[in-house]
Amino acid sequence: MKVVALVGGVGGARFLLGLKAALGIPGPGPDGVAEGTGSGANEITAVVNVGDDIWLHGLRICPDLDTCMYTLGGGIDTERGWGREGETWTVGAELAAYGAEPSWFGLGDKDVATHLIRSRMLRAGYPLSAITEALCARWQPGVRLLPASDDRVETHVVIDAQADPDTPDQSAGTDQPTQPAQKAIHFQEWWVRHRAVPKAHRFASVGAEEAKPAPGVTEAIAEADVVLLAPSNPVVSIGAILAVPGLGDALRAGPAPVIGLSPIVGGRPVRGMADACLEAIGVETTAQAVGRHYGARATGGLLDGWLVHESDWADVPGVAVRAVPLMMTDVEATAKMARHALELAGVGGV
Ligand code: GDP
Ligand code: CA
Repeated sequence: MKVVALVGGVGGARFLLGLKAALGIPGPGPDGVAEGTGSGANEITAVVNVGDDIWLHGLRICPDLDTCMYTLGGGIDTERGWGREGETWTVGAELAAYGAEPSWFGLGDKDVATHLIRSRMLRAGYPLSAITEALCARWQPGVRLLPASDDRVETHVVIDAQADPDTPDQSAGTDQPTQPAQKAIHFQEWWVRHRAVPKAHRFASVGAEEAKPAPGVTEAIAEADVVLLAPSNPVVSIGAILAVPGLGDALRAGPAPVIGLSPIVGGRPVRGMADACLEAIGVETTAQAVGRHYGARATGGLLDGWLVHESDWADVPGVAVRAVPLMMTDVEATAKMARHALELAGVGGV
């Protein structure tokens, strides 16, 4: 069976761990070394969000790709959910001692090695998809990790200029040029530095117009037996992937049923601040509203099936809805979620 999953970072990576287990693909070994790269019968291709990617200190950082790679390769800090286990922070502290900005992004020493290799390869002209493959040679994630695009497509957030501490203070004098009322900042700055507190007016995928899906993405969707939308952030993970032109059309035109899993349980995101993102695009923070936002494939949307948590319900016209446990408490619980999704797609059993 060929499965394609659209994923973001922490939620997406945890889902992929369960999906691997559900499909009998070996997991990472006890020493952080993967035991194998799949049984051969079942294959997973993950289309990973690149909207969070950013250049910092001359390093190209791809948070969602790295979260997936470290999680599936057994190198993740399981408590934090992102970054390397046993991480140290010397490089970041030294940068801060120089006063090098930005200082709000946690840059771990082990992580820096990944970013150095990626940045060097990018400067040598390699595309991100090839670089990801090269990095995965070490981690053996057992899942083919494809960036949604090799092109730069970065999520920016429009906020009130006054909400940003970097906006010059205008109360002091009247002879300064007037600042625009709103400004766009990189998603990472809004999410990590400002904890999504300044109200987001809208999101923009900068570079999307000229972007195309990375090599292999539309091919994988066209050959898939089933496509899954992980319980990732519907706006800045799944939405940012779908901002790459051609990707949504590939899902709509593809032969495979598309099944989504809700990241919203009981009217709240299970983790993180997805509610602030949904509010910005005018979608209520409920499993039903997100399901309707994705919409039915039959009517130009994305979904054939929508899984909501057992305590929730959703009515999504044209979409088969099931309520099942959707808490990724451990790999077995997550594998069950994946099996429910495969069953709803008509390609597997629970
Ligand atoms: P990020 O890129 O690291 O923010 O991660 P994702 O976008 O892949 O996933 C974030 C989303 O995962 C959040 O909106 C959470 O609500 C959702 N999430 C996290 N844990 C769970 C869980 O156990 N169950 C469900 N259904 N959703 C979860
Ligand atoms: Ca992310």
